[in-house]
Amino acid sequence: ATPTALLVGTGRGAQLGILIKGPEVLESTRRVDTIVVDKTGTVTEGRMSLTEVITGTGVDRQRLLRLAGGLENASEHPIARAIAAAAIDQVGELPTVVDFENLAGRGVRGSVDGTQVLAGRVSLIAESCEVDPVLRDSLARAERTGGTAIMVAFDGAAVGVLVVTDRLKPTSVEAVAQFRRLGLTPVLLTGDNAAVAAQVGAEVGIDRVIAEVLPAGKVEVVRGLQAGGRVVAMVGDGVNDAPALAQADLGLAMGSGTDVAIEAADITLVRNDLRAAGDAIRLSRRTLGTIR
Ligand code: ADP
Ligand code: MG
Repeated sequence: ATPTALLVGTGRGAQLGILIKGPEVLESTRRVDTIVVDKTGTVTEGRMSLTEVITGTGVDRQRLLRLAGGLENASEHPIARAIAAAAIDQVGELPTVVDFENLAGRGVRGSVDGTQVLAGRVSLIAESCEVDPVLRDSLARAERTGGTAIMVAFDGAAVGVLVVTDRLKPTSVEAVAQFRRLGLTPVLLTGDNAAVAAQVGAEVGIDRVIAEVLPAGKVEVVRGLQAGGRVVAMVGDGVNDAPALAQADLGLAMGSGTDVAIEAADITLVRNDLRAAGDAIRLSRRTLGTIR
């Protein structure tokens, strides 16, 4: 490839809202045959809203929202923002959390109003807390209907379930159809639960869905595909996507994504539109096609 043609390609990319780190990136894009997409914030808006509050026996709804809201107010996660925003709406000003700890891809914990509050996946809660089987059932039911259900515990006992839901970006269905036209195999990769992931996969037309992957596991999935002979593009937005973006043959970050994701990626999609990932791959094939 001549440097000039590659530069023209990167210039054309910039016009399309596709920021390419260097001309050499286009070369690695040519052989990509598999595209791994993160779910939250990539395929979906990543703007969740609280749609259901389930309280355990004898638990006060306002207190659940106040303490869980206070805890989540310290987290930047889309799930946390939805919970905190709804809590502020429904109970007013939130208490401040102390000893806040983020357990990446699993949940958060801290002390709020003198109570130890833990919120996250049920597997995380079950490690250190008693979980009432009725609440566990409510959580499973919420997940079957496509919600992301967060278990909340106070001082070592589960007290409620908060259900948040996220919408698809309107362009994601078309983006996946374009991946297929380009001959790419799409794979949906998420830390979220299997039911939500399957639902989103069905809505956008992706049948290979890998769910409940811990942050460190995303890079392993990419490595596994590469070990199987695949040339992998990865699209993501989160801190937890950064190692996988770096490992992929081509890493693409959403422009709305975290700085670490953008730094780890080869390409930034300024418009936060998954269709730009297909556009980037088509552009590089075309650019290289003209010079061969
Ligand atoms: P994704 O891969 O879809 O972007 P993450 O890896 O960020 O999802 O999160 C995976 C799971 O960890 C979430 O579905 C949720 O159950 C739990 N989780 C992560 N952060 C939080 C938080 N701040 N509050 C509650 N649960 C959380
Ligand atoms: Mg994400």
